[in-house]
Amino acid sequence: MSLQTVRNVVLLFSNPSWSDGHSIPSTILRNITALSRQIAYSEDLLGNVTTLSTTSVSTANGVVQGLLYVPDLAANDPCQNLTADYIPKNVTRQVNLPTTNYNLIALAPWINTNCTRSFLSSARLDPIRGMLVYRPDDDDTNQPPDADDDVWNLGDGNAWKAQNRYPVYAIPGSSGNQMMRQLSLYSGDLSTVPFSDQIISTYSPNPADYVRVWTELSVITVSTTLPLWAFILIILGVIISVIGSTSLLMHFVQSRRRAALRGRVERGEVNLEALGIKRLRVPLTHIQTFPLFTYNYDPPIPTSPTSPKFSKGRRSSEASRQPINMKAEKTDAPINYQPACLICLEDFESKKTIIRELSCGHIFHPECIDEFLSQMSSLCPSCKASMLPPGYCPEITNSMVRREFGTRRLRSRGGAIIHVDVERGRERLSSWSSTMKKHICRVSSPKPEEAVDLPEQRPRIERQSTVGTARDRMQDLVVPVDETNSDDGRPQWKRTALKVFPGFR
Ligand SMILES: [Zn+2]
Ligand SMILES: [Zn+2]
Repeated sequence: MSLQTVRNVVLLFSNPSWSDGHSIPSTILRNITALSRQIAYSEDLLGNVTTLSTTSVSTANGVVQGLLYVPDLAANDPCQNLTADYIPKNVTRQVNLPTTNYNLIALAPWINTNCTRSFLSSARLDPIRGMLVYRPDDDDTNQPPDADDDVWNLGDGNAWKAQNRYPVYAIPGSSGNQMMRQLSLYSGDLSTVPFSDQIISTYSPNPADYVRVWTELSVITVSTTLPLWAFILIILGVIISVIGSTSLLMHFVQSRRRAALRGRVERGEVNLEALGIKRLRVPLTHIQTFPLFTYNYDPPIPTSPTSPKFSKGRRSSEASRQPINMKAEKTDAPINYQPACLICLEDFESKKTIIRELSCGHIFHPECIDEFLSQMSSLCPSCKASMLPPGYCPEITNSMVRREFGTRRLRSRGGAIIHVDVERGRERLSSWSSTMKKHICRVSSPKPEEAVDLPEQRPRIERQSTVGTARDRMQDLVVPVDETNSDDGRPQWKRTALKVFPGFR
């Protein structure tokens, strides 16, 4: 808080009056200077002031203001005589001011250490808001020495600056002398003040009204501490940078996790569809790379207890769907006896039906398995092995990473925990498979002559499978996959948090 300007004006006060035993205090009637500068003292002191202490500055809109006066010294204080040359006898003292607690501004000459101490301690007893000091012998308009100059040293290591409840400012000597002179003119009643005739004729005041000098000190705040908005900005900046860096770090970690999962999927270590995470389909061009054969079933020799087998013939992709020459067939050991297509449930006819063999060894009608793999699922309907091209991987999302991580965590906690839905699907398959095996046993056990009529003895319902029922079967054969975003069920704040902090769970 340093002083910038000093402004003195003259105010007209009403005479304090008494009514019914109650006193009505003086009130400010007029700012005479503001109304007519010709008939009142005024002084504007711009700059050239030195702020000596800023203790307890109390401003109204940056202005310290009050009635100007000279603090009283004790009657026996030697400074009474020492300052007599600088302080006129009729200068405004506290006794010349309104009795009510108007704020005061003290004016005092700085002639020596003791007298200044006397003025400072006297002013401490008054309701003052600030003190102006000046060196009366330096009768010039130059700015007083700086606050840390030795001329302001009272021999107490500047402790005096903290003792007061008011700020102290130094003004040039000539300004102080001029203000002291003017102050001596505005301590009496209306008849004794300068321009009294003009004031009386202009404002027709009550004879008991009076005028006094009012001083306004404009100060500016030079705050050494940061303003509140700067603090808020800094705190906001810290919060934003912490959130930003955490978010960046988590995005980085999550991208590493996505890359790791992509690598495991590409190497075939993770099957996203079998885990119920993502429905996948096989490109038709890849499906067509699985070989076609002609189904060839050799009825078992009745005397032989060996299990029935089928043989299949390789068929070139360019060839028509006619069974190829049986002599050209190569015979492989089947993984199981597969008498019917698992999708449409229709029996394969030996040496007639064209079948497609998947890499896992399971065989189906080409039209059934092609549609199934290209539109329904990438897994073999029978053994759930993936039929995707090697190294294939769909786009990995954060949600997939979270669900795959959750599945792995469940497995590590619960040992051989298998995805419930997958397990359910497999149970269904194995029950169907065992039914088929029983059926196979039944149809393969009869004697050779009965075996010839085998197709006629099959239940008609299986042979009348339609495309519609095949589609229903496909629906049953796919592994249940929950492709809804795992974030959908979460509250909005959690979804937002997940976008900012992708690793957040
Ligand atoms: Zn089929
Ligand atoms: Zn299979």
